[in-house]
Amino acid sequence: MRLSILQSQPHTIKRWPRMDASFHRRKDKVVVIMGATGSGKSRLSIDLATLFPFSEIINSDKMQVYRGLDITTNKIPHAQRRGVPHHLLGDVDPEHGEFTPADFRHRAGDLIEDISSRRNLPIVVGGSNSFVHALLVENFDPHFNVFHNEGLISSELRYRCCFLWVDIAFPVLSQYLRDRVDDMLHSGMVQELAHFFHPDPPSPTALGLRKAIGVPEFDRFFNKYPPSMGLGLGLWDRDRDRAYREAVRAIKDNTCDLAHRQIGKIQRLKRAGWELRRIDATEAFRLVLTSGSHVWETQVLEPSVKIVKRFLME
Ligand code: ATP
Repeated sequence: MRLSILQSQPHTIKRWPRMDASFHRRKDKVVVIMGATGSGKSRLSIDLATLFPFSEIINSDKMQVYRGLDITTNKIPHAQRRGVPHHLLGDVDPEHGEFTPADFRHRAGDLIEDISSRRNLPIVVGGSNSFVHALLVENFDPHFNVFHNEGLISSELRYRCCFLWVDIAFPVLSQYLRDRVDDMLHSGMVQELAHFFHPDPPSPTALGLRKAIGVPEFDRFFNKYPPSMGLGLGLWDRDRDRAYREAVRAIKDNTCDLAHRQIGKIQRLKRAGWELRRIDATEAFRLVLTSGSHVWETQVLEPSVKIVKRFLME
């Protein structure tokens, strides 16, 4: 599969010994990996957790916190987690109502305390900037969306944070995201969504996960052509084929829009004084798209490792 190149590969960088870690670890230190959807954050988190083997990952993608829709929401598969502990990844029952930024602050805050108390390193990874903001600011007001009013984003944080922002030139990222949707379709996304489909409007308690990109787009398709009609391609008439293509096109467009909004929010946090270290992954991605080779290790992983080492030794 084309995108497997972005899976974690064995690398040549040396692991940081656990002894050094216990010596240098300060209780309130957190590594935070930010970036738009599809920018390689999960891969970087696994690579870093492998090199700093006292790390535990806390997911901060607001759709991936829920149980279910693993393909549609792009959860990193178990086989690729390399034994690294993951928290808040598929742990929340979607039937228990929407998991809010305030819930995330509370649950992820407890996790950071627990992970730190074991002298391990929490790595927060995910594209939901409202979650990251809620978790990290010293004073959080759940009734107020700071992204609607830039002047009000505080840079006073309750942990010592090392921010890595994986950034990719937008034309390269959007091409990659469109290809990724095709790969997700090949991996069984439509079957997963057919299983999740419900002909009635969503109950208020099921709203959270039903907002995932893919659900509304395919609900429209399944309302016209219910899964009971069968999913096998080839038996379809032209209208059904057109409706399917329309759903796929909408997913691709909405994913690119999401990435664009996420990058906008990250830039706002940076302008507000958050010390984000930008790692440019454009070349690594461009090469994945064109020739299949990659420069991930030299252009993304090595600079990230340097930044994290310096942070741990501060
Ligand atoms: P907002 O304030 O817009 O909610 P945010 O930073 O809190 O932004 P985002 O991660 O940008 O959260 O998610 C916004 C929307 O994007 C979600 O409500 C959902 O529709 C879609 N989305 C986000 N992550 C995923 C995902 N992993 N899979 C599918 N859809 C997603």
